[in-house]
Amino acid sequence: MITQTDGIILKQIRLPDDRRLLVLFTRKFGKISAGTGIRLNGKNKSSLALRVFTHGRYELFFGGKSCNINAAETIDSYFGIGTDIDKYMLASYALEYTERLLPENEPQEKLFDLLVSFLRLMEKRRARPESLVLVYQWKALGVCGYMPHLDSCVRCGKPAEEGAFSVADGGVICGECKKSAGVNKRLLYDLRFDIIKILKSIRDNPIGAFEKLALHDEIFEYLNLLLRDYISYHLDINNLKSEIYLKKTEIKKE
Ligand SMILES: [Zn+2]
Repeated sequence: MITQTDGIILKQIRLPDDRRLLVLFTRKFGKISAGTGIRLNGKNKSSLALRVFTHGRYELFFGGKSCNINAAETIDSYFGIGTDIDKYMLASYALEYTERLLPENEPQEKLFDLLVSFLRLMEKRRARPESLVLVYQWKALGVCGYMPHLDSCVRCGKPAEEGAFSVADGGVICGECKKSAGVNKRLLYDLRFDIIKILKSIRDNPIGAFEKLALHDEIFEYLNLLLRDYISYHLDINNLKSEIYLKKTEIKKE
C-alpha cells in the first residue's frame, strides 16, 4: 500500500549499505519506524525533508511489517531551531520525550498538532526557551490522557488547598489525606509557588498562550522536578539522553 501523510522526523539511525531507519511521528499512523534509501546528505528535496525536526509530507510504502519512505517534501524545517544551540538541545529533549510518550502505530493527532505548535513557538522564542519546553511537556501529558488530577483531593474529593501534590496518587490531596499512613511521603510536593494554579492554566489554555511565559528559576526547577518524578512513576520515562543538557542549565543558574 502506498499512502501519504504529514509527519515530523523524531530520530534517524544509520544502517549498513547507506540506508537509514527513521522514527517518524505521522499524523495518520502515529509513531512509526521506516527505512529509506534516500541519501541523507544529498541536496535534493527529499533528502532535506528527512532531517530531524523537519515537518514534512511523506510518501510511505507499507509492505508486510516494514515501511519505506519513497519520497519526502519539507513543509517546515524550523531552521531557527537548528541555528541556536540552546534551542536545538532543548528541542531535541522535547522530541526524545515525545518519542518515549508515544506508543507505536497509534494515531495521536492532538499531540501531533501540539508538537507542531511547540516547534513553531520554539523557533520564534527569544528568552528562556526552557519554560516553553516545560509547558509543552505538561500539555503533552494532558493530550495523552495523563494529566494529574488538580481540582480536588484525588483520594477523598474534598478541596485540597492546604494539602500537597502526591505523585503516587496522581494529583493533589487534601491536608487530612496527607497525614494518612498510606501516602508515599517521599513523593509528596508542597503546594508552593501556586503550582496548582500554574498547572491548571497550562492544562486549560492552548500552548500559544504561553508564547512569552518566562518562569522564575525556582518555579521552573520545582515544576521540572515534579514532572520528572511524575513521568518516571507513572510512565516509566526517565534518563532521557538529552536531559543532561537541561541539568547543566540548572547548575549554571545556581
Ligand atoms: Zn482528601
